[in-house]
Amino acid sequence: MTVRLVGPDHPDYDTDRRVWNAMHDRRPALIAHCGSVADVVESVRYAREQGLEIAVRGGGHSMPGFSTVDDGIVIALDGLRGVSVDPDRRVLVAEGGALLGDVDRAAQEHGMVVPAGVISHTGVAGLTLGGGVGRLMRRFGLTIDSLLEVELVTAAGEVVTASATEHPDLFWALRGGGGNFGIVTKFTYRTHELTTIPVLACFHPLADAPRVLARAQEVIADPATPRELLWTSFFRKGHPLPWMPADLVGTPGLMTVIEWSGDVAEGLRLLEKLRDELAPVAATVDPVPFLTLQTAGDEMFRHGLYTYVKAGFADALTPDLVADLIERGRLLGSEISQIELLAQGGAIADVPADATAYPHRSASWLVNIPASWTDPTDGDDELAWVRGTYAAVRPHLDGTSYSNFMDADEASDEQTAYGSTLRRLRQVKAEWDPANVFHLNQNIKPA
Ligand SMILES: Cc1cc2nc3c(=O)[nH]c(=O)nc-3n(C[C@H](O)[C@H](O)[C@H](O)COP(=O)(O)OP(=O)(O)OC[C@H]3O[C@@H](n4cnc5c(N)ncnc54)[C@H](O)[C@@H]3O)c2cc1C
Repeated sequence: MTVRLVGPDHPDYDTDRRVWNAMHDRRPALIAHCGSVADVVESVRYAREQGLEIAVRGGGHSMPGFSTVDDGIVIALDGLRGVSVDPDRRVLVAEGGALLGDVDRAAQEHGMVVPAGVISHTGVAGLTLGGGVGRLMRRFGLTIDSLLEVELVTAAGEVVTASATEHPDLFWALRGGGGNFGIVTKFTYRTHELTTIPVLACFHPLADAPRVLARAQEVIADPATPRELLWTSFFRKGHPLPWMPADLVGTPGLMTVIEWSGDVAEGLRLLEKLRDELAPVAATVDPVPFLTLQTAGDEMFRHGLYTYVKAGFADALTPDLVADLIERGRLLGSEISQIELLAQGGAIADVPADATAYPHRSASWLVNIPASWTDPTDGDDELAWVRGTYAAVRPHLDGTSYSNFMDADEASDEQTAYGSTLRRLRQVKAEWDPANVFHLNQNIKPA
């Protein structure tokens, strides 16, 4: 093999086996660092010959730890991070191990973006294959809605291309079905023009949350609201940001971030109006360069945190849901834990629910409950807080979840992750991976 192999006796083993979430301290038999498509093919064939369980690692950010494994092989794509842009065709090609920052920097050189997530060290692969939510989703759709073509290595060790015209069933499944169908070595995306995002960030005490979230609900439910407007509110403790008064730091409250992905002057006017209307205790309105915004959370959500997450979709921020959220917000432990309310709709809902494997097109809000902490002894409390919060809000949710925000407890819960697209996904899985070689993911059992 030309692959760089790292086993337990290698000096790099302890560094190389780490993944983003410190909860998953696993000891693979082998880490296969791939730098070419041929390396990936060779690794898959070798793993199957040797009967090794396969974990595939793109950016390593799987919160349930799917990209590592005890005693098996980690096929790591860290030597495949190349990105190229064709500005005339408005197309970007990223290799399967690229990180969001690799894509963002290459695209911004041409004043362009690929809509993806919000933390630049996240892997493009896992994020895209699950759907891809982020700050541009209402304007340009999910990441998969800009995906044009995929090159992947199948369970049989063959290299195939999937697009609207080549293996269209496989292409359908790859857009939301996760890493179930093979190892993606290349993603081809459509790009969009954008360089600056006006942002309103503001903070309210918990007592104001019903008023602010009632307004959020009104704005997002109004069909006249432009898709350029993205509304995100977080129950979290005040962070030491330059605009945050010192006495609010460490106090549970409601942080709201409203972003505008259209004309900058128009956005700033609109956000200043919203700031005045929402009357927060602290706020800032600024035009922010895209790359600055995309890296603003990198340090807070750094490698090596302990993390646990649960999530679901809500049709509306009803007064009952908000009341439950406030009660859980009061009990926040870690400075980094939060309940995120992410507005959906806009371009996401333009795509019919069965057009891709991602079925959650009509939900209005994604409710994400990630707890992150640094001291392992806080683990029991943080896990209990996430589970308690999820149990409290669950009656208000639609029963499905975003596969990229689900924890390992739910790994076998195919219905929750894939809902109405599960039946067809199982058929595609049976065709491309009948032996379920790629099962360390939100797994789809072959039909
Ligand atoms: C700090 C942080 C921020 C996040 N922000 C967002 C966000 O803004 N929006 C969002 O939608 N999600 C977000 N997520 C969730 C993220 O989408 C998932 O964790 C995703 O799985 C990460 O992809 P990865 O390649 O880094 O992960 P990995 O752990 O490498 O892989 C995740 C899954 O994908 C599979 N996989 C990895 N590479 C490949 C490949 N090349 N081919 C086939 N399968 C592969 C793995 O086997 C595994 O099942 C965030 C997660 C974290 C930890």
